[in-house]
Amino acid sequence: MYKLIAENSKIAYELEQVIRAFYPDENNTPNLIEQKSFVDNGVMQVNIAIDGDEFTYRQNMDGSISADEKRFYNRFNKLCLYKAIEKREGRSLPWGSLTGIRPTKLAYELMDDGKTIDEAVKALQSVYCVSAEKAELIKSILKAQNGFIRKGDSLFNLYVHIPFCVSKCSYCSFVTDILTPKYKYAESYVDVLVEEIAQTKQCLKESGGEIVSVYIGGGTPTALNANQLKRVLNAAYCKNVEYTCEAGRPDTITSEKLAVMADCGVGRICVNPQSLCDETLVRIGRNHNSRDFFEAFKKAREYPFIINTDLIAGLEGERIKDFIVTLDGVTGLRPENITVHTLSRKNGSALSQTEYKDNDEAEKMVNAASVKMRESGYIPYYTYRQKRMLGNLENTGYCLDGTQCINNITTMEECIGVAACGAGAISKRIYGMGDKIERLANLRDVKLYLEQFEQRLNKKLIFLS
Ligand code: SF4
Repeated sequence: MYKLIAENSKIAYELEQVIRAFYPDENNTPNLIEQKSFVDNGVMQVNIAIDGDEFTYRQNMDGSISADEKRFYNRFNKLCLYKAIEKREGRSLPWGSLTGIRPTKLAYELMDDGKTIDEAVKALQSVYCVSAEKAELIKSILKAQNGFIRKGDSLFNLYVHIPFCVSKCSYCSFVTDILTPKYKYAESYVDVLVEEIAQTKQCLKESGGEIVSVYIGGGTPTALNANQLKRVLNAAYCKNVEYTCEAGRPDTITSEKLAVMADCGVGRICVNPQSLCDETLVRIGRNHNSRDFFEAFKKAREYPFIINTDLIAGLEGERIKDFIVTLDGVTGLRPENITVHTLSRKNGSALSQTEYKDNDEAEKMVNAASVKMRESGYIPYYTYRQKRMLGNLENTGYCLDGTQCINNITTMEECIGVAACGAGAISKRIYGMGDKIERLANLRDVKLYLEQFEQRLNKKLIFLS
């Protein structure tokens, strides 16, 4: 455990992100980290001391990539701490001093300031110490998003949240109720949700909002029975709009539910193995095996869905050879989209409560995925990062070109609003091409969401209109 002495609480918060990225194990950190800065004649000087080792950095503020002084102050101080730790420890991080969750968004901001893709990507390397591999990843993603990205204050993704699942994965931090035969709120949840979706769509229609994509997520939407699923899907359907339903868990996918999704106009589904190693699936609490995944995938292929499959690099107990088996198995099926996540020890997950030792091969796995995807004809088209990810890495969505998911791109880039329905769902208004973002969350607890639906709905409709 370390002590940080910084000149104010705001920069302390920023610096802590860098410290956590370098030292995920709280028991293995320096004891004392100190930061001070001052400006003299347009030059900012930052002094960092780590257990008595002193480091000094200076930069002319005129040479900043951003004219905004506050951002310069945050960015430069984080960079100085990053460089000081990097020098002291003799190791680098793939994303350098970047700790935000949306690296592509930063590149877009630089491009909005007049930089070309190449210049924006170079700036990420020179100003944030982003590695050449990650800079190349960002460049490929910016190119893959060209023609698929939509921006505008009056554009929305309609997001519908199903807060149910059939068992709890060890890494899951979503607030989900487990649907056992005794669970009593599923039917009333669907009743209320259908009403919320109808009123939300009507509100957008009346206020000039345009729905760009519909996404049914969770939880696991296919944890609902076929009839409940059908009611939700029919309510959310919008003509000629990208429509995704996370089928997610193979153990919830049946021929009946696949037919319902196809009949209701769903064009994209997710069928997620996470790993094709059966011991791992038991260890992480997924209640299905690799054969279930292959069978669910085969059934799904009887319909003209664009299929996404999710994998996780760095699962507990896995080595690179296990991950490669999963990569080979999944790419062999040729799903249109493959999303490679890096394990994150999220607060609230069972994993965060255990003594689990971080998988030290996560970076090798992410790199192996990047190579395998390229060799198999997939391109990266969106990426994001989360707190407490192994190796300070990232999640990346790959696709066969032309099958990019507009919802994933626009959600990650935060360039259009979100009209969200369901317990815990968060609506967003985006103003001025992302300069200002407002959020409004529905109640998370299913019982409270049902009880307070009437009072809360109006507030959300005003927020969206
Ligand atoms: S399948 Fe998804 S929602 Fe269900 S427990 Fe696992 S991570 Fe959570």
